[in-house]
Amino acid sequence: MAKHTVTLIPGDGIGPEITDAMRRVVEATGVDIAWEVVEAGADVMEKYGTPLPEHVIESVRKNAVAIKGPVTTPVGTGFRSVNVALRRALDLYVNLRPAFSIAGTGARYDDVDIVIVRENTEDLYAGVEFEEGKTETLELIEFVEAHGAGSIRRDSGISLKPISITGSERIVRYAFEYALANSRSKVTAVHKANILKYSDGLYLDVARRVAAEYEGRVEFEDRIVDATCMGLVMHPEDFDVLVLPNLYGDIVSDLAAGLVGGLGIAPGANIGTDAAVFEPVHGSAPKYTGKDMANPTAEILTAVLMLQHLGEREAADKILAGVRSVLAEGTKVTYDIRRTNTGSTDGAVGTQAYADAIIATF
Ligand code: NAP
Repeated sequence: MAKHTVTLIPGDGIGPEITDAMRRVVEATGVDIAWEVVEAGADVMEKYGTPLPEHVIESVRKNAVAIKGPVTTPVGTGFRSVNVALRRALDLYVNLRPAFSIAGTGARYDDVDIVIVRENTEDLYAGVEFEEGKTETLELIEFVEAHGAGSIRRDSGISLKPISITGSERIVRYAFEYALANSRSKVTAVHKANILKYSDGLYLDVARRVAAEYEGRVEFEDRIVDATCMGLVMHPEDFDVLVLPNLYGDIVSDLAAGLVGGLGIAPGANIGTDAAVFEPVHGSAPKYTGKDMANPTAEILTAVLMLQHLGEREAADKILAGVRSVLAEGTKVTYDIRRTNTGSTDGAVGTQAYADAIIATF
């Protein structure tokens, strides 16, 4: 029996190509993994009547670890996002998105080493929304006014921003435990508590309370989200671990990805108490489907996070060193990296040739 069994969801668009490259790189390290391949997304809709069949969720639950490629969410079809549904079904409350500099990516900075810990279950992403003009929306507007909580224009649509003590406490605690486990020295809680007193204000209170438990072991600071964005662009070296409510986390993590070279190299993980699903930040980039062009680095670095989670440090370090060496050498890189570095895609290699170059460093 293999040492680890991992659920593999190839996804669609560029997903199958980049997960194939990732799988070959992981296997070439010699790590003992059995892959349980299951399909999700639009392609299985006809067969199972849902883009996220129950056996996919069951597989992740059983194995506790999954890695996936991106899955397309068609716009305006009532088709639920597989990614959001999976996070909800398994209560994957942490979205972990490290952003670190790799030489050769053409990024604007060469000294970034940030970890974004984004809350994944509440805030404006809770999906509690009221459509403009609906009876219940007008009732809500009247309720707000009747309770002296303010006035809202009657032709408004409304999205609620619930932030709980429970949700805030577990995400901030995760950030501190992550800092301790990974020898990181500082956690920054990001918020807009000066304006949003009862949601972000609550989050900040909880963050301060949790931070007190780690005093002397991990440094703590809090920053307003707008000032954080400016700080990240001007002095990214000032930041270490950032912990943010859902929406700010989504935006700031893309900003952080931009500091280190963009979506093609940004890895991610969704982590809960009982399971973890590893996936890159980027989507299915449909225009590159089947062209052997997409950059698999984000998916491969996502596998590095997965191997670290599985305790396979040696294999993780080997892959990271291989990625660094191929990107620094600069001749066997995909179109996006080539374009950033030279202004042209001439001389770029394909997805699989890039993976082969990484394997050749082992
Ligand atoms: P996207 O798929 O991330 O692609 C946007 C652009 O980013 C691409 O056109 C490409 O830029 C660049 N890019 C992304 N991945 C790349 C890679 N591996 N290598 C090189 N370049 C890469 O974003 P989108 O077009 O907004 O979304 C497409 C679909 O993916 C949507 O249905 C969305 O809902 C879904 N999505 C899924 C996930 C997920 O499964 N977790 C996450 C996000 C989005 P250039 O054109 O400049 O080369």
